[in-house]
Amino acid sequence: MKIYNFSAGPAVLPEEVLKRAALEMCDHGGSGQSVMEMSHRSKEYEAIHNECIALLREVMAIPDNYKVLLMQGGAHTQFDMLPLNLKKNGKADFIVTGQWAKKAYSEAKNYLAANLIASSEDKTFCYIPELDSAKFDKDADYLHICENNTIFGTKYPTLPDTGDVPLVSDQSSCILSVPVDVAKYGIIYACAQKNMGPSGLTVVIIREDLIQDVKGQGVPTMMQYKTHADNNSLYNTPPTYAIYMCGLVLKWIKAKGGLAAMKLHNEKKAAILYDYLDGSKLFKSTVEPKYRSLMNVPFVTGNEEIDKKFIAEAKAAGFVNLGGHRSVGGMRASIYNAMPIEGVQALVDFMAKFEKENN
Ligand SMILES: *Cc1c(COP(=O)(O)O)cnc(C)c1O
Repeated sequence: MKIYNFSAGPAVLPEEVLKRAALEMCDHGGSGQSVMEMSHRSKEYEAIHNECIALLREVMAIPDNYKVLLMQGGAHTQFDMLPLNLKKNGKADFIVTGQWAKKAYSEAKNYLAANLIASSEDKTFCYIPELDSAKFDKDADYLHICENNTIFGTKYPTLPDTGDVPLVSDQSSCILSVPVDVAKYGIIYACAQKNMGPSGLTVVIIREDLIQDVKGQGVPTMMQYKTHADNNSLYNTPPTYAIYMCGLVLKWIKAKGGLAAMKLHNEKKAAILYDYLDGSKLFKSTVEPKYRSLMNVPFVTGNEEIDKKFIAEAKAAGFVNLGGHRSVGGMRASIYNAMPIEGVQALVDFMAKFEKENN
C-alpha cells in the first residue's frame, strides 16, 4: 500500500532524495565513507558543507550582505539567541499568532523588554491580525513574527512594514515553499525538519550588520551568531548528515524549477484541499480564507468522535499523521514541498468517500 505522510514535522522528504541518500549511504562519492563517518574537517565534508550553503544562496537568491549559518538547537534555541544577540536598546516587538510566536515572545522576556503589539489569541489564532505600523516601536531592536503558523494553519498575506527596525521571521514551516525577497528581512530562521531535510539542522539567514560582537556580555560562546559566522558554521561539529540531506533537498528543488515552481506546485495542492473543504458538508477549514497556509491545513468535523474515526480509518488506508496538534485536536494535513499532488488528490478522494459513508 502506498503511504502518504502528512506529518507536520519531522516531515515527508522527496522520494528521489531518500533514494539518492540510500545509494550513497555507505560510500559517498567514491570516498569509501558514509557522510556520517566523515570528519567535519575533511575536504570531502567541507565540499558538502559549502555546496549546501551555496545552493541555499542560489535557490533563495540571498543577497551578498547576508550570511547563512548552519546551526543546531532547533527553532527553540533561536528564541533565545535572537534577544541575546540583537539587544542594543533593550526592547523588541512581538506579534503573537500562535504557539511558536508566543514562545519566542515569552522567551525574549528573559533578556529584554518584549512588547506585544498584536495577537490573534482571542479567536484561537485562526487569523493574522491587521497591523498598524504606527504602533511599532521605532527604537525596537527587532520585530518578530512567525510567518507560517504550523499548528493553526495561518500565514501572513503581506509582511509588516517595519521601516528601519529589522524584521525577524520564523520560517520553520514555510521556508523554500515560495520565493521571498530576503532583503525585506533582518533575519530568517528555520529548523530543517519541515521543508528542508531531517531534524538536527537549523538555518539562520542574517544580515551582516546584525552580527554584533557580544563578547564579554555574558552570552555563551556557542550562543553568539558571530562565533558561527566567523567560522563558516564550523566552530564546532555541525550536524553534518542533516546538512548533506539539506543539500540533496536543495538540488531536488533546483531540478524542479526552483522556488517559482515550488510555489505553483504548492498552490495547486492547497487549492485541491481547500476547495474540497469549502464544499464539504462534513469537514470544514478552521482558518479564514485570506490567511490560509499553503503548508499546514487544519480541519475539523465539529464532532470529536467522528474526527477520531476519520483519523483511524485514514491511517488504515495509508494516510498517516493526520491528527491535529495535541493542543488543538481535530485534523491537520501538512503538505510540504515533498508531498506530491497525487497524495493530496488521494486524500481528498478518501475524505469524500468518508463523508458519503458518515453523513
Ligand atoms: C516546528 C516549529 C518550531 C519548533 O522547532 P524545534 O526545532 O522543535 O525547536 C518553531 N517554529 C515553527 C514555526 C515551527 O514550525
